[in-house]
Amino acid sequence: MGGRLEGKIAVITGGTSGIGESTAETFVREGARVVITGRSAEKGAAIAHRLGSACFYVPADVMTEAGVRAGIETAVQRFGGLDIVFNNAGGPTAGGLTTITAEQIDYGVHLLLSSVIFGIKHAVPHLESRGGGSIINCSSVAGIRYNQGNILYSVLKAAVTHYTRLASVDLGPKNIRINAISPGAIATPIFWGGSARANQLSADDNIRKLEKLKANLAKATPLPRAGLADDIAHAALFLASEEGSYVNGHDLVVDGGRTQLFRE
Ligand code: NAP
Repeated sequence: MGGRLEGKIAVITGGTSGIGESTAETFVREGARVVITGRSAEKGAAIAHRLGSACFYVPADVMTEAGVRAGIETAVQRFGGLDIVFNNAGGPTAGGLTTITAEQIDYGVHLLLSSVIFGIKHAVPHLESRGGGSIINCSSVAGIRYNQGNILYSVLKAAVTHYTRLASVDLGPKNIRINAISPGAIATPIFWGGSARANQLSADDNIRKLEKLKANLAKATPLPRAGLADDIAHAALFLASEEGSYVNGHDLVVDGGRTQLFRE
């Protein structure tokens, strides 16, 4: 298949690894022009080179409002507008119930929550000027089930999902759909410390780690295989495309049935 996003212009934060990288490949294959952001300049440039003129990489950190805005403004300037935003960038957070520090909380809030809030804030005027669009926020099953990640990570992902639901009521009349995706355990470098750590390892080491991870995750869900970055990319494609045009304020869980194994 191809052409499901023909003529569309998208921004994907955290497009330098895992789910974001796979979604950039999928969106470009389906006819979109895509700006990807992330901090890993070499990796980002290599992905943009591989995907050709339909993909442009902007080095940007989502920990700041300016970093979030940079991806959006670049898409508008370079490709002439904006139709789709995937607020995807994220990574692990730290801190336990009785040990958490103010720094750990600030870090988590900026990485996982304000990055999404600012992504929406700066995208909406551009989407509105095109008569509508689609915003997709990367949440997590950690936001809906106990012990699926660090407690701060879980509560911030729950906040992302709830922000999405509330925003859908205000954005719907503008013909802007906003949805979340809650991935289950998906085989990406987030499991060995995120893309920054993955970049320090050789390609062979990363492949070895990924294969081992896939084998382990395959035992951890009802379906007999690991979740892959492509599984989330396909969900994002559905929400971004015409097929998803009546889906708004939804949290799309893509987890192979894993949440059924755990209590809320
Ligand atoms: P990943 O392979 O480690 O990729 C994370 C991406 O986020 C990278 O492109 C990274 O780019 C970017 N990123 C991290 N910190 C950033 C920052 N400060 N500024 C800009 N970009 C930043 O992990 P992934 O699994 O694809 O994760 C993508 C999203 O899915 C995250 O929101 C994560 O919480 C969510 N998620 C993942 C799983 C899973 O099992 N994999 C499950 C539920 C939810 P740079 O390092 O280049 O900055």
